[in-house]
Amino acid sequence: MTKGFVFDVRRYAIHDGPGIRTAVFLKGCPLSCWWCHNPESQAPGPEMIFREGRCIACGACVEACPERALSRDAKGRPVAGLGSCARCGACAAVCYAEARRMAGREATVEEIMAEVERDAAFYERSGGGVTFSGGEPLMQIDFLDALLRASRGRGIHTALDTCGYAPRESIDRIRGMVDLFLYDIKLVDDARHRELTGVASEPIVENLLALSRHGHAIRLRFPVIPGINDDEKSVQEIGALASSLPTLIGIDIIPYNRLGAEKYARLGRPYRLPDAPALPAERIKEIAGILGSFGLHVNIGG
Ligand code: SF4
Ligand code: SF4
Repeated sequence: MTKGFVFDVRRYAIHDGPGIRTAVFLKGCPLSCWWCHNPESQAPGPEMIFREGRCIACGACVEACPERALSRDAKGRPVAGLGSCARCGACAAVCYAEARRMAGREATVEEIMAEVERDAAFYERSGGGVTFSGGEPLMQIDFLDALLRASRGRGIHTALDTCGYAPRESIDRIRGMVDLFLYDIKLVDDARHRELTGVASEPIVENLLALSRHGHAIRLRFPVIPGINDDEKSVQEIGALASSLPTLIGIDIIPYNRLGAEKYARLGRPYRLPDAPALPAERIKEIAGILGSFGLHVNIGG
């Protein structure tokens, strides 16, 4: 039985490919983008999320922890204890205030497919299907392969939402089972990409070009982050790259929002864009105009 780690399964998703879909979010990502709005997706295994505002200082989690990883502060709230957290989830299981929650769970292919199949009637009527997202689904290649195979076996339309940073062998292994690639492109400039995501852009661009050469349908997803990639040069570079793809269906502009910022505090991590402003609607329209000048079909939003 093939197993993997997922951090969410979202039904009735309408921004993750055509029609009504179920989006399955796999854990683990090789990138660490400064603006990531799903920081709980980045680590490969489960992580503890603590929402301090919900904590009623009952102490149940401290009692439940088998590793003595928790103790109580002067107000009775849980703080680090003597031991190390083994991410077992025992504390979250007893926290009825839902202040503690595990991000990520292990699941079998059969368990995920049972959830996906619940909405099969909606997929047929709406032209939808299943989207595997993340994190980066290609990080769990055996799990992803089995999920795609099972979806295909059931006649369900498949989309893969990917950052494209993966060994070519992994992509070659699954690309024949993917009906649509939702391919994230943040920056073409290699040095800037390394600085802001932690990895080079070159393999991402190479994998994208190879997918298109092989005839795969692609929608690009361009998260526009103020002060990061909303400048003329960055947009022009993405427009030029996109217009070189023979199988491109279109490009989605995803305007930056700060919704993920508070998740960093819950995970005990710093947020690296604390002062980023929202993007004015006018600037988003201008960016859409630049991309449109390359002859691209541009959509604002996911
Ligand atoms: S069990 Fe939940 S509510 Fe109670 S102390 Fe622990 S985190 Fe707070
Ligand atoms: S996840 Fe397990 S080991 Fe970690 S704090 Fe909670 S009970 Fe303790």
